[in-house]
Amino acid sequence: MSAEVSRRNVLSSVVRGAVIASLGGTAGYLVQKAKGQVVWQVDASRCVNSRLGELDAEVCRLCTTECVVAQSAVRAVNNFAECGRCYICPAYFNIKSAVDAKGLPSEKLCPRDAIRREPIGWVDPDDPANNFYEYIIDEEKCDGCGLCVRACKEPLGLGSIVLSVRHNICVDCNRCAISTTCPKDALVQRPTEEALSVRKAALLATP
Ligand code: SF4
Ligand code: SF4
Ligand code: SF4
Repeated sequence: MSAEVSRRNVLSSVVRGAVIASLGGTAGYLVQKAKGQVVWQVDASRCVNSRLGELDAEVCRLCTTECVVAQSAVRAVNNFAECGRCYICPAYFNIKSAVDAKGLPSEKLCPRDAIRREPIGWVDPDDPANNFYEYIIDEEKCDGCGLCVRACKEPLGLGSIVLSVRHNICVDCNRCAISTTCPKDALVQRPTEEALSVRKAALLATP
């Protein structure tokens, strides 16, 4: 098997596993929630920070500051199926910082150092830009500030990072405190079954 084919295979299996881990991460908690119960979800198509939000808008941090849980129940999630696995990811690096000796931005964007960058499969030692990189969000550290989501937007990013209510942390407020201030009405309440099918649709859409 050629190095290129083997790298593609590794990439494919890593991506599949990571997609299930990232998108399906709290699906188990949804299953456990009582039938007929409603849960809150972030509609990424409405969120200011997400791909389809306004292009020139400032980052919105209300998901961090308004949640009743100390370290917000909203966290960033990278949908690996849509991630470009870029050499220089604008959500990982502060692309406005000085360039270091390796030709990379010297600072990271995330204020909580919650994103990990790892090369995938075979690594080309002569041309780092020829390699694929996986950007993994550590949800223990993330507080959903939205900076990386905002930075991943087109034209620099592909919009693969979104904000998501994590159902193992959310305390299911009757009226989500974020929803009362969200400028785009992006916090939506769905019955558990519907929330699960939205999550399953995202999983099925992956290659
Ligand atoms: S409050 Fe609304 S617009 Fe702001 S980050 Fe949260 S979901 Fe996005
Ligand atoms: S949402 Fe904020 S804290 Fe979370 S990974 Fe992105 S930049 Fe870091
Ligand atoms: S329902 Fe409550 S705990 Fe859950 S995201 Fe909204 S404010 Fe946070």
